[in-house]
Parts: sequence; structure tokens; C-alpha cells
Amino acid sequence: MKNFFVKLFAAMKAHKGRTIAISVTAFVLICAIVTVCCLSAFLFNRFATGYVPSDTALAEINNNPANQYKRVVIIGVDGVGDFFGKIYTPNFDKMFSQKTIGTTEIKASITYRGVAVYPTISCENWSSMFHGVRPVYHGFLFRDTNQRVEAGEHSKNEDKYPSFMAQFLAQKQNGKVLSVCTWRGVNNGIIENDARITKYNSYVADVYQFLKNYNQTTKISENIMTVVDESEQPTVSTTIRDDIPGIEGQLYDYLSEQVKLYGYADETIEMRDAMTMQRIISETVSDPDKYQIAYMHLDQVDHAGHSYGYGKPAYSNAVSRVDMLIGRLYDAYEAAGMLEDTLFVLCTDHGHRLPGGHKNHGKNTSLEVNVTFAIAGKTVKQGTPGKYINTDLAPIVAYALGVKADKDWQGRVPYDMFSTLS
Ligand SMILES: [Zn+2]
Ligand SMILES: [Zn+2]
Repeated sequence: MKNFFVKLFAAMKAHKGRTIAISVTAFVLICAIVTVCCLSAFLFNRFATGYVPSDTALAEINNNPANQYKRVVIIGVDGVGDFFGKIYTPNFDKMFSQKTIGTTEIKASITYRGVAVYPTISCENWSSMFHGVRPVYHGFLFRDTNQRVEAGEHSKNEDKYPSFMAQFLAQKQNGKVLSVCTWRGVNNGIIENDARITKYNSYVADVYQFLKNYNQTTKISENIMTVVDESEQPTVSTTIRDDIPGIEGQLYDYLSEQVKLYGYADETIEMRDAMTMQRIISETVSDPDKYQIAYMHLDQVDHAGHSYGYGKPAYSNAVSRVDMLIGRLYDAYEAAGMLEDTLFVLCTDHGHRLPGGHKNHGKNTSLEVNVTFAIAGKTVKQGTPGKYINTDLAPIVAYALGVKADKDWQGRVPYDMFSTLS
């Protein structure tokens, strides 16, 4: 080896001119390769991940009632990653399947290989999902981001990169949005404060009041004092209906059984998720024309991931319970005749690490990065969508409602997700 270098240096000395020429050529070549790689990455980022719907494409929705939805219902399931693809979830399968309702053809598009943004932390991802940009742009990046949004901190760039909710309200003057969260971070810091966005955060006090104020005859629980902002004080009197056709009395039966078994101290997260789902159902079925976007944030799967790890029985059970709640939503909408004019979306921020070691998420292992994305409605294209990244949620919801994407959003509408877009 030593001889090789001695010979090489001797040869280089003897052919100085040639050595310089070869070095310059090699340098230029390397520069060219690096430039091509960077350019390709830029072009891929810009164009290859999906559509930016044109004005003509949006007119196809806004001028054609057959392509319009009365509402988009978004089921946000924290921390479930790709696990919907690995477990028996009959209600998820029912909601996200091809079927005919009346004269309307409903189609579904599902992927379990969507991609979270890095780092795979809740605040970073939900912010990217709502505001359509990567974390470095919305600015929530490491440093206790979850706690900061819980405390009511908003992105400094909230005006520059509006959420799909704000974008919708800016373009639809009579629009109204509902957001009910078990994890308060999304309501307190990620979604803009706006008089036309109604926010409720589900705490265990809601469960307690629901059972205490429940009228067995009417199956309605009134005067539930609820938290609606980061003050964490219950300040608004609300009503939750349990008389919804198709699911009458189910919430009361479920919660009273849970309380009998565990009391209020244990496993309250699943009861809070049940309240979150019921509030979405109760508010939208009671007044179907009121809200055009209804978002819910369910948190029990993430809790199970932190306590037990990805794929453990408790994690599976949490996903099964979320599936049960999806079934309630589906049954209530079916009974109310609301399935055909609803677009259902199910999304998640990240997955979890395997059990063993530190149970958490935040890194870029495949189980943390891969996410489920499912969508069902009359303008959806049946099958599997093209590449889905979490920044795509904002443009997807906006497009489905005929709303123009913000010019600074980095997310795109994935290829092959909508039959109305090509
Ligand atoms: Zn999360
Ligand atoms: Zn978590």
C-alpha cells in the first residue's frame, strides 16, 4: 500500500500538467453531479408529489353540485402510524370502502405508507398538516413544542401559512368550522382563533357532567360546562345529545359502564375520546348545514403507545376502541342520511417505536414515519393514492371544498386521490 502511494506521487510529479487537468475535470464533474442531484430534489419536491389545483379544476367543483360536499369530517388519530393496516378494524373498513348510497357512488382511497414530517413529534406534524408547510417554515421545531401549543402559543408565521380552516373561511364568507380535541394542543395553538371556528376541548370533567346531567327520558345532557380555550377553564355551557338515531343511548351506556369498572381516575383518556366523537356527531347531526369542516382529535392510541409501545395489546385495544367510535359516527350519519354528502378523512401525525427501550416517537424509524391516510367520498378515486406527505392534508381538504390553495403551501393534492382531478 505504501509503495502504491509512493509510486502515485512520483507519477503525479512527473506528469504535473496531466494531474492538474484530471483534478479540474474531476472537480467539475462532481460539481455537475451535485447540481443535478439538488435540482432533481427541488423539482421532485415542487412538482412530483401531486397537484396544485388550477382555477379551472376548482371551477369543476364550485360550478357542479355533483362534486360538492356539505361537510368534510376529519378524524385525527394521534400516534396510530400505519397500524390501521395491521389490525381488524371493521368500522374503518366500512367507512373507507366503495359503495353506493342512494344514487351516489362513494369511493375510498387509502394508504398506510404516507409519510410524517421530521421530527415525528405531534406539534410539528399537526402544524404541518393544518398549515401545509414543513416544520422549519411554521417554526415549531423541537424545544417543548407540544407544551408550547398546549399553553396557547401560535406559530409566528400563522398569517403567512394559514391553516386549511382559515383558508376556507377566507374564501367562503358564510363558512363555519368545528374542532373538538382530546389533545388540547391542536385547538389551543395550531388552529387560528376565529369567531367562526368553534373549539371544544374534552376533559374528564365533561364525562362527569355528562353522566350527572343526563336525562334518561330525553337522552340529552345539558349544561355541560366546557373548556374552549387555553385558559383551561370551563366557561361555555354546552349540550350533548345521546338521542341520535342509530346510536341512541350508546354513549351513556359506554361511559357509565367504564366509570363503574374503573372510576374517573383510571383510563379516562378513552372516555374523553368518546366525548370528543359524540360532540362531533351531536353538533353535526343536530344541525347538518351549520359546519362545513368538522375536525376531531382522538388521543388514546398515542397514550397507549407511550405507556406500552407500538403493537402491544393495549395499543391494539386503543385502535379497536377508536374503530368503535368510527362506527358510531358512520351509523349516526347513515341514519341521518348524511353519508352521501360527506367527505370522510382519517389522518395521523406519526406512529410509535416498538416496545423495549424508551417508548416514544420523534425519530425517523419506519414505524414512526409511516402514517395512515384514508379518504372516502363521491369525488374520491377508488384505490391507493400517489405519494402522501403530512403537509398534503391542507391542500386536500381545501381542494375537496373548492377552495384555492395558499400560494405558499408546500403540500400538494396527491396524484390519483380524486377522480375530479387529473
Ligand atoms: Zn402525536
Ligand atoms: Zn405522543
